[in-house]
Amino acid sequence: MNPGEFPGASGARRTSDGSPSPHPGKGGRPAIPAVFLDRDGTIIHDAHYLSDPEGVRLLPGAAAAIARLNAAGIPAIVVTNQSGIGRGFFGEAEFRAVQARTEALLAEAGAHVDAVYHCPHAPGAEPPCDCRKPEVGLFVRAAEEHGVDLERSWYVGDRLRDLAPAERLGGRGILVRAGASHDEAERAPAHVVVVEGLQEAVARVLPEDDAN
Ligand SMILES: [Mg+2]
Ligand SMILES: [Zn+2]
Repeated sequence: MNPGEFPGASGARRTSDGSPSPHPGKGGRPAIPAVFLDRDGTIIHDAHYLSDPEGVRLLPGAAAAIARLNAAGIPAIVVTNQSGIGRGFFGEAEFRAVQARTEALLAEAGAHVDAVYHCPHAPGAEPPCDCRKPEVGLFVRAAEEHGVDLERSWYVGDRLRDLAPAERLGGRGILVRAGASHDEAERAPAHVVVVEGLQEAVARVLPEDDAN
């Protein structure tokens, strides 16, 4: 459908080449693929239970990679385990401060994430939560709230548990070694795509797109 048919379709005119905005609406339109991104060790350096916004450091290429997703109209949705909250190391306010600093640094580089979901629970919590990765609760919620087709989505992180939801939900997993001080890549099943960082991961998502 030509968005030019709609009077006042100003959003569709924002793209520089005159093509329609790639962002489909949520009003009953077909679900679209998203890229689910782990945060710590994937977008920012994993400082282990980071609660101080001054400690936020973007990983090399992370902002540029997310900007590519933005330009392609693919939702970039953060899904992050924050067990530091459940363990009592810090609170929701500290989590939000670190997240705000992360998003400010991304914004300086012209990138944004479309949504953020976090699990605040500690592993082994009773009753067990359904949101700590590798559980899929947050992905299912994100799909409902953002019109995401989980089977066509990508699950990106520096831990195999970030990718495990793809096995149940039908998408594809990409393991980034970026912040890795562990042997996740050695333990990865053969079908898991292993890349060095987020830029390489996004190149797998958008192979037809010219690299920036
Ligand atoms: Mg991580
Ligand atoms: Zn949880």
